[in-house]
Amino acid sequence: MLEIVTNTHELHRISIPIHNPSEHRHLVIEMREMLLRTQGLGLAAVQVGSLIRIIIIDNDPYPPFVLYNPLIAKTSEQFATSEESCLSIPDKSVIVRRPKTVKISALNNTGDAVVFKFSGLKAVVAQHEMDHLNGVIITDYLGELNGF
Ligand code: ZN
Repeated sequence: MLEIVTNTHELHRISIPIHNPSEHRHLVIEMREMLLRTQGLGLAAVQVGSLIRIIIIDNDPYPPFVLYNPLIAKTSEQFATSEESCLSIPDKSVIVRRPKTVKISALNNTGDAVVFKFSGLKAVVAQHEMDHLNGVIITDYLGELNGF
């Protein structure tokens, strides 16, 4: 069974692009199970120890979105702040300011290019998970808006 990575040194590493989504089917199944088990809103592969560019985003009651090699294509000019927590950083929440909506291009599980547009909570989660791929975690935002 996979475990959640909580070591910040590991979490600060940058994930590498994948070549073929079908090679990672097993990992994605395990990530989906992890998301269910922890009742998380999203998960990046680095959080279960794989430094590759895969994120999943909860879409309850539907299956989660699975994005391979996601790239932020466009963000709104409006920003919103919200209090975020992270499965990898237990018992801590951080206020983070992010664009309100985000357009992300990615590959789907058959390797086709797709575009996702997220707003509201899903936009927050999507950008939080994108951060993980670039080695950024919520505590990196401390000091910006949290009064330190
Ligand atoms: Zn996180």
